[in-house]
Amino acid sequence: MDFSELKLTRQFLNAIADAGYEEPTPIQIQAIPPVRSGQDIIGIAQTGTGKTAAFLLPILQQLKYAQGEAPRALVLAPTKELAFQIHAEAVKFAHYTDLRIVALYGGVGPKVQIEAIANGVDLIVATPGRFLEIYSHGHFATKKLKHIVLDEADRMMDMGFMPQIRQIQEVIPSKRQNILFSATFPARVERLADEFLLWPTRIEVTPESTPVATVKQFKLELPNLRTKIAFVEWFVRERLGDERLLVFTRRKEDAENLSRFLQRTFDLGVRAIHSNKGQNSRINAMQEFRTGAVQILIATDVASRGIDVPETSMVINASAPRDPHDYIHRIGRTGRAFRNGTALTLFDASERFAMERIEELIQSEVLPYPEPPALEEFETPRSERQTQAREIDRELRKRDPDYQGAFHEKKKKKSSGRSRRN
Ligand code: AMP
Repeated sequence: MDFSELKLTRQFLNAIADAGYEEPTPIQIQAIPPVRSGQDIIGIAQTGTGKTAAFLLPILQQLKYAQGEAPRALVLAPTKELAFQIHAEAVKFAHYTDLRIVALYGGVGPKVQIEAIANGVDLIVATPGRFLEIYSHGHFATKKLKHIVLDEADRMMDMGFMPQIRQIQEVIPSKRQNILFSATFPARVERLADEFLLWPTRIEVTPESTPVATVKQFKLELPNLRTKIAFVEWFVRERLGDERLLVFTRRKEDAENLSRFLQRTFDLGVRAIHSNKGQNSRINAMQEFRTGAVQILIATDVASRGIDVPETSMVINASAPRDPHDYIHRIGRTGRAFRNGTALTLFDASERFAMERIEELIQSEVLPYPEPPALEEFETPRSERQTQAREIDRELRKRDPDYQGAFHEKKKKKSSGRSRRN
């Protein structure tokens, strides 16, 4: 299969050639023709499958050339990083056209973004909140919007964007093309799709629980954070070579600490991204990771969605995520497109349950890491022991509501906020 068979015009075929894409991915083969002909589409595809080009190319082709002032297409994405990346990809594909593409996202002042749309815009890529904010100040009209994409719809719902999506739906023309992409398709996304789309064609590239097939997955049980950090140190020293490594931590403090430790220990570019970091710092860290100036990137889940670095070949989960879908998203950062990747999950006794849920979801056992190093095993500090015990209690209570618990929390004590997700 060749891109030219997908009836894309010369301008786009040239841009695709410049991007170095040799052949369309399965989602592109399936989605480009119906999107190009204006149909409503539900695409179930993870990041790494080429889904962004699958909706951008045929939409840009329908927009053809710059026209009027008001936007004619809108792509909504859950995070600034993702909006930023979709925008960059759209600009790349539109290189041989005069189409005007603008990204609207929060975390930076709106002034530059408002100026960018002032002279007219054809495609807006936005996070829902910033889109509404700029719209409500009257900086653009929505009456010409004919194509709407909800990207990573599952994540947008998880992040609580439903009210904004409804508000946007109310201010855009009812006659339009709707496209919804989601990595997973639980009932709540299905309900959103029923509400939002008209007779959609459903396209699915991988069953929803299958991580990108090219990723080799391993697991390794270690008693505590300190030992996990010692493992990462061993890995970077002995195994990493020139490869780029992405490490996920559950908490932002862990991301920060690990980043500082690796920076002190190795003469390598290391950066951490999490919700406490400013927008620019996150985007810069990601750009540097992409160019290779940063070799090790450490991230929490919130930051994970926007990461798109095809060169990443190794992901280490410093803890097993509680929600197994996060696992799929995390390891979807590696082995992208046609490359091979390895994902290794480090888990402690309290994360065995999370590991089991992952294996249930992917319907196979994750293999034990074949070459665990002889590491010095550190004592588990008291506070971590208590956190682990509480976590185990929480899990056991979930399975059996009558379970009394081995760890008795003092009733009056204020919540310590220990289980906050980053
Ligand atoms: P996505 O799933 O849209 O996040 O894309 C994943 C990565 O694959 C991005 O870095 C794209 O630039 C790249 N990509 C998309 N389509 C192709 C293709 N047909 N051939 C090679 N790489 C691609």
